[in-house]
Amino acid sequence: MRVDEYMYNVMRCTRCGMCRTKYNYYIERVCPTGEFSSGFEYNFPRGKVSIARGILEGDLQYSKELAEVLIMCVGCWSCMEQCGAKDTRTGLPLINPGEITEAMRADCVDLGLAPKAYQYLARNIENHNNPSGEDHKDRFKWADGLDIPTGKSDTILFVGCTPAYQRPEIAKNSANILKAAGVDFSILENEVCCGFPANSAGFINLAKEYAEKNGKALKDAGAKRVVFACSGCYRSMMIDYPKLVGKLPFKLIHITELINELIKEGKIKLKQGINQKVTYHDPCHLGRHLGLYSVPREIIKAIPKLKLIEMFPTEKNSWCCGSGGALKLVHPGMAVEIAGVKIKQAEKTGAKAIVSACPSCKTNITDAINKNGSKLKFYDITELVIKSMEAA
Ligand code: SF4
Ligand code: SF4
Repeated sequence: MRVDEYMYNVMRCTRCGMCRTKYNYYIERVCPTGEFSSGFEYNFPRGKVSIARGILEGDLQYSKELAEVLIMCVGCWSCMEQCGAKDTRTGLPLINPGEITEAMRADCVDLGLAPKAYQYLARNIENHNNPSGEDHKDRFKWADGLDIPTGKSDTILFVGCTPAYQRPEIAKNSANILKAAGVDFSILENEVCCGFPANSAGFINLAKEYAEKNGKALKDAGAKRVVFACSGCYRSMMIDYPKLVGKLPFKLIHITELINELIKEGKIKLKQGINQKVTYHDPCHLGRHLGLYSVPREIIKAIPKLKLIEMFPTEKNSWCCGSGGALKLVHPGMAVEIAGVKIKQAEKTGAKAIVSACPSCKTNITDAINKNGSKLKFYDITELVIKSMEAA
């Protein structure tokens, strides 16, 4: 069983509950799916670790019902951040209930117990190269009329399924920023899903197949550096690919990291002031998963007249937007309810807009703004950069 790999970690759990509620000047919620589902212990991280222990000790068996319970995790890693069980030498967390849940999902897939919604997602990837079942031939529709090269290049812009189909403005802005800064780059003609949704749902062999496809396509394109327009794809190639196919031999960098570099080198000139108060939402895949907290904030602060006001909680304690782990696909209503917490936190700051750097966060937070009748606006960070680059 794949959960066997986590035996040592699971057995370190003292069932203390710090992953359910944290004290951060006042009592705060930690787990989005636990808080917004039935409220039963099995929907919280501590319950997930107890389920894993039951399986490892032979007291519980995998079943279709258990596979449904395991859907309730957005993989935000907020629980891991709060968990008190740390490696005494490195200080790093020992227990990641999000990863343990993914390992149990993978066991369910291996046993033929995958929930229908996950099977649908996997079939879409197999048949259309993207998790939402869009037509593969439309993958680069966003680039129509933009004159973006597709040949060999040292720098490849890896766009990802979500920007390509659902948030084409993020794909366009990313490409236009690179063009305007004089970066010599190409897009990958045979780009396919990064495999992250398959990996997260437990379809490890499928994720591996897609990791191999992208790795080969990047190699054939002569890539030395891969720039990501999507935080999920970036996280996938940084964290999952080394386990699936080995570390990729290219420099991997998120679009915000490259933008920040280009600003510092004077290749991106932020001329136009944006007179607004904004707050920044940390996407889990960039923040907790990869530790990218300061870069997007440096970009926001570099835009003239733009004022950043921090939300509470933020950075490693940030509340997830609720769209991860395919929750937006399986329980869209719950995903938007989770994002509703973020809207309240943002409104409290007095900011007029939420800025972030993830296409999935943009969709879910925008849905929550609309559902809550909030006056907040949402900007992807690339949108603000493009705006500020325009001649005053
Ligand atoms: S996972 Fe960590 S924080 Fe949660 S109950 Fe176990 S030891 Fe405590
Ligand atoms: S990763 Fe996030 S959603 Fe999953 S159990 Fe931990 S806190 Fe809950």
